Amino acid sequence: MSDKYKTTRTKELEFGGTLGAVILPFLLPSTVFYLIISCGTKEASVFNFPPPLPELGELWNPITFLLFLCWIGLQAAFYVCPVGKVVSLAGDDLMRRIYYNSDTKIAEGQILRDGSKLKYRINAFHAFVMTSVVVGIGLASGLHLSYIYDHFLQFAVSASVVSFVLSIFLYIKSLCVKESLLAPGGNSGNPIYDFFIGHELNPRIGSFDLKYFCELRPGLIGWVLINLAMLSKESELRGSVSTAMILVNIFQFVYVIDALWNEEAILTTMDIVHDGFGLMLAFGDLTWVPFTYSLQSYFLVNHPVELNAFAAVIITILNLLGYFIFRRANSQKNTFRRNPKDPAVADLQTIATATGKRLLVSGWWGFVRHPNYLGDLIMALAWSLPCGFTHILPYFYVIYFTVLLIHREARDEHQCRKKYGLAWEEYCKRVPYRIFPYMY
Ligand code: NDP
Repeated sequence: MSDKYKTTRTKELEFGGTLGAVILPFLLPSTVFYLIISCGTKEASVFNFPPPLPELGELWNPITFLLFLCWIGLQAAFYVCPVGKVVSLAGDDLMRRIYYNSDTKIAEGQILRDGSKLKYRINAFHAFVMTSVVVGIGLASGLHLSYIYDHFLQFAVSASVVSFVLSIFLYIKSLCVKESLLAPGGNSGNPIYDFFIGHELNPRIGSFDLKYFCELRPGLIGWVLINLAMLSKESELRGSVSTAMILVNIFQFVYVIDALWNEEAILTTMDIVHDGFGLMLAFGDLTWVPFTYSLQSYFLVNHPVELNAFAAVIITILNLLGYFIFRRANSQKNTFRRNPKDPAVADLQTIATATGKRLLVSGWWGFVRHPNYLGDLIMALAWSLPCGFTHILPYFYVIYFTVLLIHREARDEHQCRKKYGLAWEEYCKRVPYRIFPYMY
């Protein structure tokens, strides 16, 4: 296919390159199933290997699969609803990012040729409200949310199947588009790697943006629903709901609402701007997030924890501290990127870069180089603490998330070094710590 503005071949392979792309598609779903099966046992031990293997019937249920498809369909219907504003990802911003990320000028044609700016409808919060109405009507009509708990593994299997089928579709679709629409990081020419990491940057069917849709809605709203189902199951089993379960539900609910409310902010994240849409993101969004991030509430159903008022207050303060750092840091950078002259950020010190953009070196971004990750990790710890100290399994999230964010920070650092060169070196000198002050 001739294309004047080709995306060059990806030379730097991430996530373990081809080997990673062969292993991870097996490892990721196995980990999800292993965690769910282990968490459902009396011991809830990650060291009980192999865990009791389920019968085929425990893995697969056509009704559960159909319900999962209905969930995706419902969220898709809400996504296309003409409510909420429509924003364009500024063409020059996307162009500049692609330009610097790929070390080449050619991808900028993707934006310039037809002068197009990708449009995105910001209505994830509306989708949450509409979902709440639908669930509310369901509950009033006798729907039992505990069905999700009872069929949790089957839902995770269904989500995995959908993630894989979607990824195959995405790869086939990517073979039919202009080369300029491919992801700068997912065009290695190795089909296994490109399939895993994502070959096409912003796959769309008409104006339906598949990556943007999957990023927040089915997984994040699903996560809240799963937590609520666990709460409902606990109440069915014990006639009351524990403080620990309430805290986990509230903390994670606030986190999800924050992400949905600030949906516009994801338009400038690595996921949207740099990464293609392949198995890694599809599985992450649809399966990994809802089924592993909810492990604490799943754990609490079978392993009740009595939390005294003092512990509950301390954990709540910790969560509030993490949320404060996370939100203030993200808002400060977003405000600065939108309008550096905004009075809220105008007094902050900055460094000029050759791209015309400036880097903050005071305020939150002068404290550590990723203050938002620090806040996120403090919250992650606060979500696990209500599960007590008897098991390591409910701490899976904070352990995995630390590894994820350290790796993500290194990837972002690599991209920023390419984008900003000497200015980035200067920033690193002035702000030596990456995530944890005086430690890392
Ligand atoms: P960030 O919001 O951390 O953005 C990184 C970008 O910010 C850089 O590429 C650079 O882009 C800009 N930047 C970096 N330093 C500065 C500075 N000093 N001054 C101005 N701009 C700077 O990216 P992420 O997408 O990784 O994270 C977004 C949020 O999502 C975080 O809070 C993170 O914790 C959270 N997250 C949560 C996950 C989960 O599963 N729960 C998974 C991943 C992320 P540029 O200069 O081009 O603007």
